[in-house]
Amino acid sequence: MPTARRSVPCLVPLMAALTALLCAVTYLLGGFPTGRAKAVPDTDTPADAPLVEDESAPPIRCVVIDAGHGGEDGGASSASGVVEKEINLAVALALRDLFEAAGIPVVMTRTEDVLLYDRNVDFKGRKKVLDLAARRLVAERTAEAAAKDGGTSLFISIHMNAFPQPQYSGMQVWYGTDAAASQEIAFAIQTASAALMPDNHRKIKAAGSNLYLLDRIKTPAVLVECGFLSNPEEALRLSDPRYRHALAVLIFSAAVPYVTP
Ligand SMILES: [Zn+2]
Repeated sequence: MPTARRSVPCLVPLMAALTALLCAVTYLLGGFPTGRAKAVPDTDTPADAPLVEDESAPPIRCVVIDAGHGGEDGGASSASGVVEKEINLAVALALRDLFEAAGIPVVMTRTEDVLLYDRNVDFKGRKKVLDLAARRLVAERTAEAAAKDGGTSLFISIHMNAFPQPQYSGMQVWYGTDAAASQEIAFAIQTASAALMPDNHRKIKAAGSNLYLLDRIKTPAVLVECGFLSNPEEALRLSDPRYRHALAVLIFSAAVPYVTP
């Protein structure tokens, strides 16, 4: 279970969270079908993973939102042709709008369908490496700017999942291990996902070196795998703009109490 937070959240994000929750309830009353999640054996962690609070951690002042993939890197795709990079960007842009409406500064790693490698260097065979380095740089520069005022930034990366077998579905949140708040925020998002996917019993998972950005970014950082494009039913939901917006609302609602603009 999560420990109590260090400080009382300020009123603006709290009101925004309440508004977002109302949106989510309204959406749910619309009767969207829910997914049937089954655990993927090697991606679960214990349900009661301890959450460690860091009393000395700086307050989170702003958010970096990272829409995974882009341009020539489509990421995962569904059998019906739904491409991950497009859903990532749609959810990320909706998430940006929600944070900004709450008065929280947002920096996006991308707002268009592009990979972020430098076109002026020799990028042959290195596009993905250069792209990830550029995203990391955005996160680090934002964190440095926030640190000048004694704060830090929260990095949220948006992705969609895929698995060789089609039956798996549901959100899974990964967290960086350098800042204690990462695990708390990941837990909050994973818990909030029950509103959209009541049968999803996935657990948060610590990122290792296989997740480049979470492994290297030192500020609070989470990566949200919103759902499985390899599951035909979930891929259909992910192709619906209303469902993408609902995903943004749930991530925002869970994360915003941890931000103090
Ligand atoms: Zn991805």
